Amino acid sequence: MNANDNTSSPAVVRVAPSPTGDPHVGTAYMALFNYALAQTTGGRFILRIEDTDRTRYQEDSERQITEALTWLGLSYHEGPDVGGPNGPYRQSERTDIYRENTQTLIDNGTAYRCFCTPERLAELRRAQRARKEPPGYDGLCRGLLPEEVEAKLAENTPFVIRLKVPKDRAVVFHDELRGDVEIEGKTIDDQVLLKSDGFPTYHLANVVDDHLMEVTDVIRAEEWITSTPKHVLLYEAFGWEKPRFRHMPLLRNKDKSKISKRKNPTSLIWYKENGYLPEALLNFLALMGYSSPDGEEMFDLASMLRDFDVKRISTSSPVFDMDKLLWLNGEYIRADSEANLTQRVLDHLAYRRERGLEPDAAEADVLAWIDANGGLDGDAARDFVGRTMPLVQERIKTLQEYAPLTRCFFASDVSGYAQEEMVPKKRNAGEVEDLLRGIVGALEKLESWDTASIEALLRSLCEEYSWKPRELFQPVRVAVTGSKISPPLFETMELLGRETTLARLGAAVEV
Ligand code: GLU
Repeated sequence: MNANDNTSSPAVVRVAPSPTGDPHVGTAYMALFNYALAQTTGGRFILRIEDTDRTRYQEDSERQITEALTWLGLSYHEGPDVGGPNGPYRQSERTDIYRENTQTLIDNGTAYRCFCTPERLAELRRAQRARKEPPGYDGLCRGLLPEEVEAKLAENTPFVIRLKVPKDRAVVFHDELRGDVEIEGKTIDDQVLLKSDGFPTYHLANVVDDHLMEVTDVIRAEEWITSTPKHVLLYEAFGWEKPRFRHMPLLRNKDKSKISKRKNPTSLIWYKENGYLPEALLNFLALMGYSSPDGEEMFDLASMLRDFDVKRISTSSPVFDMDKLLWLNGEYIRADSEANLTQRVLDHLAYRRERGLEPDAAEADVLAWIDANGGLDGDAARDFVGRTMPLVQERIKTLQEYAPLTRCFFASDVSGYAQEEMVPKKRNAGEVEDLLRGIVGALEKLESWDTASIEALLRSLCEEYSWKPRELFQPVRVAVTGSKISPPLFETMELLGRETTLARLGAAVEV
């Protein structure tokens, strides 16, 4: 039993992306809320591919959509790759169904054939623009007599099928999140339902499928709210029961415009490639429309489902704030176990390689070491990455940040730094050189090579040389790790071992 107060009956919901490019964060956002409603009511979640716009269709897009949903853990009960009782789940494979159903509308007089040529329609639009009128079909073919229609059909005149929108009344529907929405029929165009090539438009296919797939609840983005009156008219024309509608607020850029890839990465695959964790991304997307009852910002999918209440969805425009996502991602990384995170880092590197992504210098060094030591699924890689994990887990916010921070453990040579990086303010190169010689000498004699001993020794050298710790650690850090930013220094030196550490300090003296 659910403690929450959702619609008591099992909800059948769907996400219906169009395969027109990279899988979009908006698809995951919609999928998440639909999934949550299905899960918390014991219902069903459907993936339907709306691929009837063949001009915008992109070959690999459907595979990427399913990959992204799987990555996020938003599994669907029915879909093109898993099947189900009401398939097919690709609209391009359902064109017969749409054609048959439009015939019902022709027969009952709620739709009509329109034989207007593209030239006439273009001329109509031009004239409307000139008169500063909103564009729309003027209804010429609404009044064709049956024998006129027959004659055109006999001549094989191409036609589309349009919805006969009642112009003399308003269309009203209820949005469960927003209340009643009312729109005057005269402002609604006689929507094309079936194009001359026999392909349906979004509106027809969407309504027919939602009905035949037994969808009870439509949760979709706000941008479709202007389409809903047409859908409502279609449900009425077919004599079908309407689903419940909920229009979610659009994700927005910081400037409040609709989220766009010019201002934010919008491809789910981008987040995967760049080392975001699916649970962090889901949590972040959940926050875009939902708050947990206790006000906690960090909640995983399981805890969201525990107290999910569809009535708590908020309609205020959420801003897609990458800094916040990065913060959340870091929180999830910190909350993970070392062993699991180790595996995730390795899987991440493997995924990037498989995708053919060009590694940067740090990633290339990490991969080279791993390849030379038994590969990404070998024990050596797991052990060694595991040993670095306690040093970096607190310091990385994405899996992708692992390689730059740990490069010093994997690279055979870190000496690409500039000499100045080793010289603290108010010190000169000569002083640094003397210091480093002293440090090398002392470290050579250090009895036990462990973090505590290394730290004690370096701190005692600070006093001996009258250098502040921060000053003294800088050249050591740069020499040993190749960068001013590194994992904690003493632990790093321990893990690198005496030989490598001394060799790098020695090389720095030469610089
Ligand atoms: N194909 C539409 C989209 O790409 C579906 C909208 C809806 O859910 O009705 O978002």
